[in-house]
Amino acid sequence: MKQLTIKTSITLSGIGVHSGKTCEIIIESADPNTGIIFIAEPHDNENSIVIANYNNVSDTRMCTRISNNFGVTISVVEHISAAFYALGITNAVVKLRNSTEIPFLDGSALPFTTAILKAGIQEQNAKKKQIQILKKVKIGDSERWASLSPADHFIIRIDCDYTKKGLNTIPFQYDSFSDNFKNDIAGARTFGFFSEVEYLRKNNLAIGASMKNTVVFNDKGEALNPEGLRYSNEPIRHKILDIIGDLSLSQCEIIGRYDAFCPGHNLNNLLLRELFKDSNNFRLI
Ligand SMILES: [Zn+2]
Repeated sequence: MKQLTIKTSITLSGIGVHSGKTCEIIIESADPNTGIIFIAEPHDNENSIVIANYNNVSDTRMCTRISNNFGVTISVVEHISAAFYALGITNAVVKLRNSTEIPFLDGSALPFTTAILKAGIQEQNAKKKQIQILKKVKIGDSERWASLSPADHFIIRIDCDYTKKGLNTIPFQYDSFSDNFKNDIAGARTFGFFSEVEYLRKNNLAIGASMKNTVVFNDKGEALNPEGLRYSNEPIRHKILDIIGDLSLSQCEIIGRYDAFCPGHNLNNLLLRELFKDSNNFRLI
């Protein structure tokens, strides 16, 4: 399997969910073996580069944030990263303007996915990095856990428990062979609960969040957004989207299965750190 980049540059702008500021990104093609890299302003300074790697994850509250050794942070990388990973894009440069967070757009990965497909995908003359999971790696406890185990292709199966918040979910599986990322996962939006809104407002968090980019549920599990849901089980599909984005920070295609109960950004990052701690857990293909 070959490495891929994009054919033409992409510009996207929108509100940042944390800052509430308008931010812009320019996505450009990159040479083989570059990986996915984010560049904050000033763009011509090497110290502005932050590599999309699990070792650079510095904060997992509310989103996945990555940082470099010079104190530059890039926030909310998970949705754009999921789009890159699912479309097989291994090399790209993402330049940020006016902010150090990725625009939140509609709270899903669909705008990134659509823009990348429109820009076109370019095959490169280098082999894609793949890892095969050889041994089961599990972290967490009985309340929340995540694991990676051997399988012949990438599968995710998760269960979540939001019953205390009035939302019923049933387990959901995404199979990278038989399911379609763009149709089945990319459009699932970020979600939250009306009961949390006051806390977020009081603490100056998620300033840019609104019903334009977040599905808000009341305590009966009903979506308050006038347009309703895109999928009946949109929240668990969004969880899958976040997992794909977080696992993409391994910087390789994972051949194996991911299972979890109540996963989150922190658990996903700890799982990758646990996986790469022991070279007997995987093999590079
Ligand atoms: Zn998300």
